[in-house]
Formats: sequence, C-alpha cells, structure tokens
Amino acid sequence: MPSEPRNPATDQIPPVVVVGGGMVGIATAIWLQRAGRRVTLIDKADAPGDRASFGNAGVLASSSVLPVTMPGLLGKLPKMLLNPSDPIFVRWPYLPKLLPWALRYLSHANEADVRRIASAMAPIVGNSLDDHLALSEGTPARRHIKPCDFAVLFKDRAAFEKDALGWSIRKDLGFRWTEHEGAARAACDPLFPDSFDLLATLHDHGQITDPGAYLADLRDHFVASGGTFLHAEVTDIAHENGRATGVVTPRGRLDASAVAITAGAWSPLVTKKLGVKIPVEAESGYHLEFWEPSVMPKAPTLVPSGKFILSPMAGRLRAAGGVEFGGLNNKGRGAPFEALKRGVDRVLPGLRFAKETRWMGHRPAPTDSIPIIDQLPDLDGVYLGFGHQHVGLTGSARTGRILADMIGGSIPNIDITPYRVSRFMGERNHTRTQSAHARQMEVC
Ligand SMILES: Cc1cc2nc3c(=O)[nH]c(=O)nc-3n(C[C@H](O)[C@H](O)[C@H](O)COP(=O)(O)OP(=O)(O)OC[C@H]3O[C@@H](n4cnc5c(N)ncnc54)[C@H](O)[C@@H]3O)c2cc1C
Repeated sequence: MPSEPRNPATDQIPPVVVVGGGMVGIATAIWLQRAGRRVTLIDKADAPGDRASFGNAGVLASSSVLPVTMPGLLGKLPKMLLNPSDPIFVRWPYLPKLLPWALRYLSHANEADVRRIASAMAPIVGNSLDDHLALSEGTPARRHIKPCDFAVLFKDRAAFEKDALGWSIRKDLGFRWTEHEGAARAACDPLFPDSFDLLATLHDHGQITDPGAYLADLRDHFVASGGTFLHAEVTDIAHENGRATGVVTPRGRLDASAVAITAGAWSPLVTKKLGVKIPVEAESGYHLEFWEPSVMPKAPTLVPSGKFILSPMAGRLRAAGGVEFGGLNNKGRGAPFEALKRGVDRVLPGLRFAKETRWMGHRPAPTDSIPIIDQLPDLDGVYLGFGHQHVGLTGSARTGRILADMIGGSIPNIDITPYRVSRFMGERNHTRTQSAHARQMEVC
C-alpha cells in the first residue's frame, strides 16, 4: 500500500508517540493516522508472542461485560486456590506484593459493583464486531474477522442458572442468546459429550481467526500508510513546564507532541516514572494449541467450569484461559497448562492432533476491572489506554478511537467518567497543576 502524501506543515510538529504496540496501541496509532497525525509506535517486544494481543482466544466478546469478581468469589477462593484442577493460581512468593491489589480487587465482588462495571464495559466492548470492521477497513487485516455466535457450554441447567445474575445483567444490557438443551444441544454442536447438556449461544459476536496475524497485518498497514515503528523500550517520559515533550529510550530521546501509554500490563511501570501509581496487576493466562485437530467446534466456546475458551482458529484449535497472579516476571509453568489440558480432555475426549504448542502472557488487570482511558490530569499531553483485563482484544478498536479523539482535541462520543484515572486518586483535588510530579498520586 503506498504511503500517504507528506504534508510539510504537519511534518514540523513532532509525532504523537504511542508506547506499546499490542492491540490497544495499534488501534490508537491507526485512528490517529486516519485523523491526519504523524505517529510513531514504539514496542519493546523481542518476539510477537511477548504480548497478550498475540495469545488470546480471539473472541470479539461483546457480551463479556462481567468481571471475574462476581459475588460469592471470596467464599470460593480458598478451595479454588488449593485445588490444582482449578485453573486459578497464585505464585505464593509474589503474595505479599499482590495483597494490597488483591484486597481492593476482591472488594468489588458484590452485585452493585458488578452492575456498575458491566455498565461501564458495555460501551467499550458491546459493538466490537462493527468496531473491528471499521478499524480493519481497507487493510489486509480484514480477512481475519469472522462474524459468529459465542457459545457457552454447561453441564446442565442448574450450572447455567448458578450464574443467574450474570445472565440477567447481559439481558438488561440488550444481549441476546438462545439456550439449546438435550437433543437441541447435540444438534447445535454434536462435538461435545452428552455430559454437557446445555449450550447457550450468544448472538452477533465475532472472532479473530489468528490474533497474531491480525495484529501484524494492522501494523504493516500502519507502516505502509506512513507511520513509523520503532523497536525499543520506553524508559521515561520527558516533560517541561507541565507538558510531555518526548519519550526516553536506550536508543535516545524522541520528541513527541503527545504520548499515549498503551503498554498493557507494563503500563504502570511507565506511569510510575511520572509519579503516578495505577493499580493494574499482571493477570497471566495460558493457551494450548492443537494443530490439525481431528475436530473443531462450530463457534468459539466458553467452558465456565474449566475457565477456558475453545477457539477454532486458522489451522488449529486454541484452548485459552486460566488465571495466574505472579507479576510481570512470571514466565509460566506446567500446572496451569496441565489444568487446561484436563479441561480440554473433559470437553473433547478423543481429540487428536498433529502437534501441540504452548503460550502464556499477561492480561492487564485493574482493581475494579474497568480500563483506564483518559488524559493524565497533572501533565499535559499524556494519554492512557490500558487495563482491559479479559477483553482487551474486543475493546481495543473502540478504545483506540476514543484515545485518538481525545488526543486530537475532539470530544469522544461517550461519557468517559467511568474510565478516568482520577478514580484511583482518592479524595485529592484533581485540579491541573504545573507542579505535576511533586506529589505522588494515591493508589495501591
Ligand atoms: C489466555 C488469554 C485469553 C484471552 N482471550 C481474549 C479474548 O478472547 N478476547 C479478548 O477481547 N481478550 C482476550 N484476552 C485479553 C486480551 O488479550 C488483552 O486484554 C489485550 O491483548 C491487551 O492488549 P494491550 O494492547 O493492552 O496489551 P498487550 O497486548 O500486552 O501489548 C502491550 C505492548 O506494550 C509493549 N510494552 C510494554 N512496556 C513497554 C515499554 N516500556 N516500551 C515499549 N513497549 C512496551 C509490550 O511489548 C506489548 O507489546 C485474553 C488474554 C489471555 C492471556
């Protein structure tokens, strides 16, 4: 694709620098580019798999508005953590560091907060198929998007009804589904054993059939359209007189007219350099891929009892899920893979395949499960877009558009109050000041 013609007037202004080239970063970069801005996207990853946007389940999960912190979690947690078959893990040496975040996270496991979180998530993820069609329009990435149902598989109706609150919230927010039971379930997807008697199919969803290739195609399009991509780690944000002026990398300083921090689970490390601590933890997840599988589900299928999604993808079946808290240095281990494998065996006994591949990565998880999409209050020119926990692929296209609007000075057509970073700042006065970093923002 040819580069856009250069505009000498805008070439004088330093580019907008987007820090982090996962799905949120690339969506932000493309929407900024379409608004006529010069953009430099910087990413530190040494391999494509070093980011959640590569290894996720690929579901455009519009109806996934509910947090992990559903009511009742607290009571179930000890059993979950001690049972090796349950795919929720804590790396125990990391517990002291995790604890302040975990206490705040668990404090949201009540109905009022769950309803508030779901209402905040719906505008970010609720129209994700259209959002991604718009993002990928005119790019080779379009070929990876497939409209589909999103299925949820239960042992029986009692298991389905255990999540009555979740289903009623989805209904209130306008999501539609069909429940298939017994023979109807078998007709709907005959693949699963009779021990799974109920399949709920949520309508009007979508799927990315190869998340890594989708991201790579979007990045190639961004570069072909005149964008600059740099492989480097941003170690600091340069600023003068209360305004961001550039970013610092081991390769030198780069001028910027604005900086967007979209570095996923690593974002708090970047904001911390500005004296801003934001309570986002790395919530690691795992995937197993079965290449040339003997069977494929018709649609991406969530198995709540095993906390994983079976996702039919190009050339392979991906089983993705699990939750592990061990910080950003957690490199993964066998137990979560084994739990995932046992879950797959239960749902697809007799699955055969040519080869198995394994991956783990970090979801960015804020204490209240709501992403941060905002401008930093105390330093002009710094924008934040991270914390999309389990639905960052889904919400990336919308988030990128909102951030591009904010950076361009137009008012996004959404109330951004729920996503503001000031919610983590306690009672402090949020008035913009010139002495930005003299004070530490509260948190964690
Ligand atoms: C197992 C699993 C299954 C999932 N399934 C789904 C799903 O089906 N649907 C869905 O919507 N979501 C899913 N998710 C969640 C989703 O993948 C994430 O929310 C999303 O990818 C986060 O995107 P991101 O761009 O914020 O972060 P990332 O994809 O992690 O990208 C952040 C980037 O920032 C870069 N970076 C970090 N620090 C710096 C720095 N200082 N300088 C330069 N670069 C830096 C990193 O190298 C990285 O490339 C899943 C996640 C997991 C783990």
